Amino acid sequence: LPHHTQEVSHIAVDIGGTLAKVVFFTRNDKWERGRALGDSLIEKSDELPGGRLNFTSFETSKIDDCIAFMKKLLLKHHKRIDRNGHQRDPQHAEMVVMATGGGAYKFYDRMRAELGVEIYQEEEMRCLIVGLDFFINEIPEEVFTYSADDFPTMQFTDSSHAVYPYMLVNIGSGVSMIKVDGPNQFTRIGGSSLGGGTLWGLLSLLTDSRSFDDMLSMAESGDNTAVDMLVGDIYGRDYTSIGLKSTWIASSFGKVFKADPAPTAERPSEERRKKFKQEDIARSLLYAVSNNIGQIAYLQAQRYGLNTIYFGGSFIRGHAQTMNTLSFAIGFWSKGDMKAYFLRHEGYLGAVGAFLRRQP
Ligand code: ADP
Repeated sequence: LPHHTQEVSHIAVDIGGTLAKVVFFTRNDKWERGRALGDSLIEKSDELPGGRLNFTSFETSKIDDCIAFMKKLLLKHHKRIDRNGHQRDPQHAEMVVMATGGGAYKFYDRMRAELGVEIYQEEEMRCLIVGLDFFINEIPEEVFTYSADDFPTMQFTDSSHAVYPYMLVNIGSGVSMIKVDGPNQFTRIGGSSLGGGTLWGLLSLLTDSRSFDDMLSMAESGDNTAVDMLVGDIYGRDYTSIGLKSTWIASSFGKVFKADPAPTAERPSEERRKKFKQEDIARSLLYAVSNNIGQIAYLQAQRYGLNTIYFGGSFIRGHAQTMNTLSFAIGFWSKGDMKAYFLRHEGYLGAVGAFLRRQP
């Protein structure tokens, strides 16, 4: 990022259906260090020559906070130049915001009015791919495989160059599957509406969890077999002739009705729900959504002859069960021929792509 290390010339925002992701560069000098650039909000930051790239996100429903944060970043930049008595930096006047995601359109007027700088809208799929290529090619220890059976479970791959063609499965509120044939050559080949928003929405109805991370930690301690119907529940053993193991899920949530039949006036739904542990429900739904995406991803990859599948999007959130389920699904259906790859900055592909789209 040589030209980005000179100055904080721009920030990028990817405003999706659920989360608004912000990426910005800060220089490594005394002024930047230790000063409250909303540091407590910064989720991740990575050292680069001359400074660091910072990552943070807001719920899109709190877009006001996000815009206020960007405004603060822009103001700090202005102040810095004044206090140091620098001549007006030629880039100063060019401070811009690179914006992508649906919110780049939906909130354009507000951002333009409140931030007072130029907002450049960038196409979302292109940004995802630009961001992904950057992470694959430029950032060491970014791409990894995950399996609960491996030790260590997380293994970084040496992907010093992107091998085309490959597929990106981006799991945000919904799911997009994109075939990438080369730099700047891509096609959206499919998707699914059963994505991160589905898990988030349904678990907010079915459990008392207050945040997405709450839901994930519930899932961690849950036992899905209390609500899922397994092959063994139906057959009493493995179904060997067609290769089904007794422990596999035959029907997600298939046990619920059997365990406690339909609601009645005396036993309304809320009462029935108490019979099942929220943790078990969370785990079952996490498995259901992840398995379903894994299977569609495999089928799409097979349809187009793609062997490499990268999974991105904030749904993954570095969560062990999610990654293990997706990895297992890909390995299982491809009989070990294909691998699922994950990224440390999985939620920020689009935002980083938009950041990089700024021409010097
Ligand atoms: P979008 O661009 O559609 O907003 P993201 O890639 O940002 O998509 O992913 C949104 C999904 O990420 C949510 O639907 C949810 O499953 C998950 N998620 C991760 N962290 C959070 C969070 N803090 N709040 C809400 N959802 C989150």
